Amino acid sequence: MNHLPSAVTLCEVGLRDGLQNEKTILPTEKKVELLRGLAGAGFRVIEVGSFMHPKAVPQMADTDEVYKAVGELPGVELRALIPNLRGVKRAAECGCKKVKLNVSASRQHNLKNLNMTPEESVAGFAGCVQAAGENGIAISGSISMPFASPWEGRIPLADVEAIIEAYLKVGITEISLSDASGMAVPNQVYQLCAHVGEKYPQVSWWLHFHNTRGLAMANIMAAMEAGMTQFDSSFGGLGGCPFVPGAAGNISTEDVLNMCDEMGIQTGVDILKVMELSRTLRELLGHDMDSYILRAGRARDLVLS
Ligand code: ZN
Repeated sequence: MNHLPSAVTLCEVGLRDGLQNEKTILPTEKKVELLRGLAGAGFRVIEVGSFMHPKAVPQMADTDEVYKAVGELPGVELRALIPNLRGVKRAAECGCKKVKLNVSASRQHNLKNLNMTPEESVAGFAGCVQAAGENGIAISGSISMPFASPWEGRIPLADVEAIIEAYLKVGITEISLSDASGMAVPNQVYQLCAHVGEKYPQVSWWLHFHNTRGLAMANIMAAMEAGMTQFDSSFGGLGGCPFVPGAAGNISTEDVLNMCDEMGIQTGVDILKVMELSRTLRELLGHDMDSYILRAGRARDLVLS
């Protein structure tokens, strides 16, 4: 096993990607408590929520309130997903300093829903970039399903490159590759990550894997071997995707932390504190979650006598 990084950065996305798929809507104060707990566990990047229309995603309707209640957490980047310019305005009003846009890499999906190619969607983000800049808000972009989509299967590399270049053209240089459909496989992840890492060295890359087919951890390993060091994960493995049949959550944070801890890869995050927060979350939501470590505990905690 070659080229593994000595340290990686994890962004905890459970409060957004996880909670948005739950029937139970957590009260704002519980979200704030969990958010403070996650910062206390050592996360330096946390996805707090989204500024989607409250009717479309009622679980995230109070994201503005969460920001106002939590205020500044020194040294922690709190980011939120936005759909459009309205999202930048809401971010500016509640003190959010980092937003993330998203586009689907599926041309068919995009043409059918928006009557635009993915590159045209991204070109339309120019106004968001400008407004974010005027308000001192950092902005990043996500490409959903860059590996494969349920509509066309494998996405051609040229299509992914066209979207990356559209992002660069509007001035976005932090890009997340998001396997929302859980269709990516490790050799493809390695190839795409190695390729884009070399071709676009100016980009700060994030990888976001769902564990729908049990391959998220293998995909993280493949991405690490290709030089990637920034990954999203979700405490308790919470999540899903409303558009993808049978979608599972993001890879569980404690599972990733366990692997990194045992392999000597620094994360700066305390796994025991995260496990405690995942147990709290399980109680709040009233159901089991998709986390090996929460079920089985850490291997190093076993007493075999
Ligand atoms: Zn996701």
